[in-house]
Amino acid sequence: MSQSNAESISQPNSSSELSHYEVLQVAPNANFDEIRKSYQSLALRLHPDKMPNSKGSFDRDSVTIDFVRIDEAWKVLRDVDSRRVYDAELMQRTFREEYFVNENLTGNDFQLHEGKDYRYHVCRCGGLYVLPEGLTSGDKCYLSCDECSLVVEMA
Ligand SMILES: [Zn+2]
Repeated sequence: MSQSNAESISQPNSSSELSHYEVLQVAPNANFDEIRKSYQSLALRLHPDKMPNSKGSFDRDSVTIDFVRIDEAWKVLRDVDSRRVYDAELMQRTFREEYFVNENLTGNDFQLHEGKDYRYHVCRCGGLYVLPEGLTSGDKCYLSCDECSLVVEMA
């Protein structure tokens, strides 16, 4: 596997961490209802108030998941805007070269979302490519559309 620029983007210390989707046991393209249902059933199992005699946690892939972690994932994924930003960050972690790059863009192709602190580019399908927070110009990265499977390269 060759080192690409996409892999050198600074990331949170997260390689061994489960994504919010994995924590909530849903697919990355799950819809709001699916995520909410899964959150609710996990929260019922893990809420400290419901489990006075246990630690309120379970292990998955050697990572301990507790109510706080479930709650944290839900708070990000339940909101359309914060989910978009999170998906964009996740994309940087999981990008693999087999993605087909549809367009090459520069920072100027992205516009600031009014009232929000992220920048986006509209896909031909009407979906959005969202720039991860903290990306400095000059960094090369790949972004996936939040609606379809297209990918753009930003350099
Ligand atoms: Zn699209």
